[in-house]
Amino acid sequence: MTPVGEVQTFRGPVAAGDLGTTLVHEHLFVGHQELDLNFPHPEWDEATLVDTAVAGLEDLWDLGIRTVVDLTVLGLGRDVARVARVAERTRVNLVGSTGYYTADVLPAYFQTHGPGLLVGGPDPLEEMFVGDIERGMAGTGIRAGMLKVVTDEPGLTPDVCRVMGAAATAHQQTGVPITTHTHAPSRNGRDQLKFLVARGVAPERVVIGHSGDSEDLDYLRELMDAGATIGMDRFGMEHVLADERRVRTVLELLPLGYADRMVLSHDAAFFSRVTPPSWRAAHTPYWRMDTLPRRIVPQLLAGGATEEDIGQMMVRNPARLLDPGGGPS
Ligand SMILES: [Zn+2]
Repeated sequence: MTPVGEVQTFRGPVAAGDLGTTLVHEHLFVGHQELDLNFPHPEWDEATLVDTAVAGLEDLWDLGIRTVVDLTVLGLGRDVARVARVAERTRVNLVGSTGYYTADVLPAYFQTHGPGLLVGGPDPLEEMFVGDIERGMAGTGIRAGMLKVVTDEPGLTPDVCRVMGAAATAHQQTGVPITTHTHAPSRNGRDQLKFLVARGVAPERVVIGHSGDSEDLDYLRELMDAGATIGMDRFGMEHVLADERRVRTVLELLPLGYADRMVLSHDAAFFSRVTPPSWRAAHTPYWRMDTLPRRIVPQLLAGGATEEDIGQMMVRNPARLLDPGGGPS
């Protein structure tokens, strides 16, 4: 069990109070190893993109960002050794994560392995999540600092429930917080929170991710009033919702007293096979990890947010959440 107050990073434990300004939902590299092996992407060049990530993170350091949480879990092409090669060349703390990204079904392996299934044995998801947090990910000894689960349009399918149940169990054992991917138009953060709370997870230990895709203040307030933190975590993703509208939602919620229940990030990546760099350059030029410090924070401040609000959302809330001993408030 991680000592209270320490957050696991690629460089080892860091006191939660020393994390500094933190981006809580980002990706270094989103890929697909089997596709890479059989149908390489023309824009993927590992050595170049490792350099790109190092340069990008160093630029973030110069802009005041001190910690980035990489939520690239299995299903998104997690490669811990590759991220470690970036981590050793940047001053920014990187926090790794465990979990499984599927909106619907898990790979066939999981259909035969686990209690009551053909091959049987313990649930490999629970084994992996707990092992990643307590011993280290993929044999590296680098321990995960966050759990990630997903529901999208299909909702709580049996396999999604299995992933979420395993995450709840791993959370109970380790204290590591759970962050989610939601399909905000379905307002399915509600179902996620209900599911996790029913399995003994305190809402205060959950981030309902991609909530910034929604402008439904009643929905967002309901999640926060229940104790959860909402991820206003897709700044720059203007093909889903314009930044101006994302900013407006945050500015509407701040005066209502919700600064301690929102975290800010981009869900950006230095490379993603899903939306490769050339596409992003043409369609979402601001979907980058420097958009908050360069563009959005100034807009929030001009719109009435205080420095105190920014510190709450970008420093103190992430520290409270990432601290495995982080309490309910
Ligand atoms: Zn993401």
